[in-house]
Amino acid sequence: MDCLFCNIAAGEIPAKTIYEDDLVMAFYDIAPAAPVHILVIPKPHIPSAAALTEKDAALVGHIFAVIARLAREHGFEEGFRIVSNVGALAGQSVPHLHFHLLSGRALAWPPG
Ligand code: AMP
Repeated sequence: MDCLFCNIAAGEIPAKTIYEDDLVMAFYDIAPAAPVHILVIPKPHIPSAAALTEKDAALVGHIFAVIARLAREHGFEEGFRIVSNVGALAGQSVPHLHFHLLSGRALAWPPG
């Protein structure tokens, strides 16, 4: 398996995991862009948000419920950003769907 996040989901590459269940995993980004920078991934391989279909509705709903729970439990629910880069032009560097959770500082809008 040559997908970095599949390997992290399988426990073959270590990560600073903060949440895991059968469907998703959340871990700290190795190069944080904010004081709080967490990545939330589905365990099944999905290349990006552009590959999602109706059959993924429950999985994506679950991911967002996990995100809300992380925000509550880690104390950043007052202000955070969810980002999913899609494709090289948008800066996607790992071709496995992931949601960045960014918090702990003022976040400019629009993003660069
Ligand atoms: P993107 O550029 O949107 O595809 O996001 C990929 C993110 O994965 C970047 O923020 C990287 O810093 C992060 N990343 C790359 N390798 C690892 C790793 N081994 N553990 C945790 N985060 C990683």
